[in-house]
Amino acid sequence: MDERTSGEQPEFRPYHHPAAGWGAARSVTEFLVRERELVDGPRAIMRMNHENGGFDCPGCAWPDDTKGLHLDICENGIKHVTWEMTRKRVGAEFFAAHTVAELSEWSDFELEDQGRLTEPLRYDPGIDRYVPISWPEAFALFGRAMAELDSPDQASFYTSGRLGNEATFLYQLMAREFGTNNLPDCSNMCHEASGRALQASLGTGKGTVDLKDWEMTDALFILGVNAASNAPRMLTSLAEAYRRGAQIVHINPLVEAAATRTIIPHDFARMATFKATRTSTLNVQPRIGGDMALVRGMAKAVFEEAEHDPKAVDAEFVDRHTTGFDDYRALCEATPWPEIERQSGVSRAVITAAARVYCEADRSIFSWCLGITQHEHGVDTVREIVNLLLLRGNLGREGAGPSPVRGHSNVQGNRTCGIDHRPDEAFLDRLAEVCGIEPPRAHGLDTIGTIEAMHRGEVKVFVGMGGNFALAAPDTPHTFAALRKCALTVQVSTKLNRSHLVHGEQALILPCLGRTEKDHQRGGLQSTSVEDSMSMVHLSRGMKRPASPHLLSEPAIIAGLAAAALPGSRTPWQRYVEDYDRIRDTMAQVLDGFEDFNRRVRLPLGFRIRQPARELIFHTPSGRAEFSTAELPDVVPADGVLALGTMRSHDQWNTTIYSDDDRYRGIKNLRTLIFMNAEDMRDRGIGEFDRVDITSTARDGSTRTLNRYQAIPYDIPRGCAAGYMPEMNVLCALGDYSTQSDQPIMKHVAVTVEPSA
Ligand code: SF4
Repeated sequence: MDERTSGEQPEFRPYHHPAAGWGAARSVTEFLVRERELVDGPRAIMRMNHENGGFDCPGCAWPDDTKGLHLDICENGIKHVTWEMTRKRVGAEFFAAHTVAELSEWSDFELEDQGRLTEPLRYDPGIDRYVPISWPEAFALFGRAMAELDSPDQASFYTSGRLGNEATFLYQLMAREFGTNNLPDCSNMCHEASGRALQASLGTGKGTVDLKDWEMTDALFILGVNAASNAPRMLTSLAEAYRRGAQIVHINPLVEAAATRTIIPHDFARMATFKATRTSTLNVQPRIGGDMALVRGMAKAVFEEAEHDPKAVDAEFVDRHTTGFDDYRALCEATPWPEIERQSGVSRAVITAAARVYCEADRSIFSWCLGITQHEHGVDTVREIVNLLLLRGNLGREGAGPSPVRGHSNVQGNRTCGIDHRPDEAFLDRLAEVCGIEPPRAHGLDTIGTIEAMHRGEVKVFVGMGGNFALAAPDTPHTFAALRKCALTVQVSTKLNRSHLVHGEQALILPCLGRTEKDHQRGGLQSTSVEDSMSMVHLSRGMKRPASPHLLSEPAIIAGLAAAALPGSRTPWQRYVEDYDRIRDTMAQVLDGFEDFNRRVRLPLGFRIRQPARELIFHTPSGRAEFSTAELPDVVPADGVLALGTMRSHDQWNTTIYSDDDRYRGIKNLRTLIFMNAEDMRDRGIGEFDRVDITSTARDGSTRTLNRYQAIPYDIPRGCAAGYMPEMNVLCALGDYSTQSDQPIMKHVAVTVEPSA
């Protein structure tokens, strides 16, 4: 992996300004100037996230404003869109001038900064370059490779969370008609724990609250989320909550920008007067992995409170709608405070203070993201959060409930529309009935399973629908080696990235339309739909001329691949592509909650997929909400070892790097860094910016090292450290995935840090 420097000296100056505000305005202006998008940029911004004829931001999955806000955007959303709209182009000429070996020396920023891919390309091993290929030839090449497989399970179909619902449905249909459930997705690395925990506790894999609930709640608990960078419009909800007197408790080893104060750019009066609003009333910094113990402590404090105020627990709700309450109470009472303090890294006094906020609030929402899910015990922690919510009946009523934050704009939609390597029988039955295929019943491979199977030579054809698989996955060199063992790798992308250079024996790059671009088909200008973190499904329609006349839409590419891989298929692939309403009509018959899809998705703001748990209907074995009783895990690192969490900077989106800066953490011109506690640095004789070697030790005892990184003293609990993905994915062993969620454990890597020689 390249150690990129921007040539300028690294700087570290703790950030004390409000989140968003003038800092965001200046950053956006600099970005638009740098990308030379001073005309189309603002035009697109004015159409982003608008319900009638606008396009959905290709960034995160935060829901759209419900009150018709005109500028319903954020700094990072503008970067994502501007990055896609760049005028720079990468075509045959570029690839004729650069070998893959040469490009492999370039940094990830430099690769993506080359611009939009303009035509389909085939890898030519003879000259180690990509050369143009026509679409029919590309599809035929794919068809031949698929025909050569001994089993459908020798192919695997990866989805990154940007794929729209209609393309998602066609993609899973192709894989299943071909005969496999090998449907890994980026959710395998990020949100699996949330889905499995909510399914076990409430009988649904999703949150039950929507944005209106956020506007009504009395208390917000935000766990393991860096909202100001990864769901920036949450700042608006936090500021409004604070102004109406709600309590806001941030629980995170790092006090991130959203846990301080903000100026919302579309609040012109406050912008003009530099008037910031707080976005937190209490910040709690547990050790990495200490959230479960912290939540257990809050529940214990609620039970102690109930000894003198019975209303602290909603006994009626518990009796009517839950099961397992007594066992959970017994477990909480039996969990000693000293153990809770040790495992959480937080004092009883602070935990009790957080519990008091919870008890004093009539309605509470708990919201979380990767800081909770990317751990061995991610499922248990989410279930512990639900336990706490159940204690006070914070479910099935306005202003209350679980609200997981999803990363990518349509990652939830992907799962809803069939991207699931463990599909349920009912879905497969309906798919078989409606689409006239015999879908495979055996569970398929997820992301880790796919990489392991590539290594064993059992997966020979890999298709990446968007994203940057090679970098997003853990154990980078191991993942690279796996991809290089494939007979064929196919990447459907908008921009050049590392996954194009880490390819199989044969390789195809298939350039697709971006979210901002018009998608003309025989049936006219097409719209696609997405589902946000709060189960709202709405349309997105491009407004710009495509970057090249040779681009195809994602549905059209999938239809081309399917027709080639499935000769004799009776699925109307071409008819689907001519008019996406036809895809939606089929989805309405197959998918729960999508009835009358075409009419409802055209309603203002679209429609919300029904959440039975919101109506206190629980599709659990008991038919009730189920308390869990998991033992607290031991998350305290051994002496000399630190627990490292990988994270994103403010100037990146997943594996896309916009610059070496991380404004909210006070960093300029540096990504090869590790944030450490100042005392932990002193113990190791390490000063600010000193070069260090970071070595991780995996469960199987194998070690992985990053050399000559630079140490930054940061407000993080002792025994903890943090650094950036994808660079630090090198330290995450492929085999170190959660036994509960199968998610790679990227937020809790055991490392040692020593001064570099
Ligand atoms: S909050 Fe998320 S979806 Fe909204 S504009 Fe920002 S990045 Fe895009």
